Amino acid sequence: MRKPILAANWKMYKTAAEAKEFADQLLSYLQEGASLKQPIQEQVEILVCPPFTALSAFAAATQGTAVAVGGQNLYPRKEGAFTGEVSPLMLKAEGASYVIIGHSERRQILGEADELLNEKVKAALEYGLKPILCVGETLEQRRRGETADFCRGQLAAALAGLDQAVCDTLVVAYEPIWAIGTGESASPQDAQETIALLRQWLAEAYGPAAAAKVRIQYGGSVKPENVAGYLAMPDIDGALIGGAGLQASSFWKMLQAAADLGV
Ligand code: PEP
Repeated sequence: MRKPILAANWKMYKTAAEAKEFADQLLSYLQEGASLKQPIQEQVEILVCPPFTALSAFAAATQGTAVAVGGQNLYPRKEGAFTGEVSPLMLKAEGASYVIIGHSERRQILGEADELLNEKVKAALEYGLKPILCVGETLEQRRRGETADFCRGQLAAALAGLDQAVCDTLVVAYEPIWAIGTGESASPQDAQETIALLRQWLAEAYGPAAAAKVRIQYGGSVKPENVAGYLAMPDIDGALIGGAGLQASSFWKMLQAAADLGV
């Protein structure tokens, strides 16, 4: 049974002080929920990915709790002359256990190509970070009926050269680009259909048992009002959340919705 993972991707929002404020609020919600028969953190994995400048403040504020911390990117070297970049070792040292790789904003705005993303996945694994690999199609590709092929191609490229051990820690986030930050979202049925095809690709590449271990999230305008619809789908194991993950109160509502489903 895969434990669902709800991850807030803060993108380029929040100072260290604001991150600490969010952490305090989230922890107080968690404490309130601790008396429930089955505390939320036992049912759902909770992850927050702050910007690099707020990561260590957030990690310090949540240390020893059920809240995991992730980076939003890494550079695939341990250290070196790479101005402006952050290494997996540095993320780990600041308290991260996950890292987002291949978010469409980085692919589209910063021109990150598949080869580099493949290096990033390998670097994350080498340094003990769990990769959250993002894939997703544009609206034009969807209209042309290319969604599944395109996303499977992104998976194949980013995972090239890796064996089935990657399935022990890999999280995939299916994020249709047209649904990110737009208020438009894929229907739960559409997301399920694509995600099932991604899992099928993983099964063909690594075997059904390994593929069954991989958690695949949906991302794209997920909010408290619609999260339950996605999580009720058999192949959807959580959500990668942008805008609605910036307030502790709305993130908490989504965690509650996941726990209420008993997913
Ligand atoms: C994201 O940043 O990955 C995302 C899905 O954003 P939003 O939830 O705002 O659409």
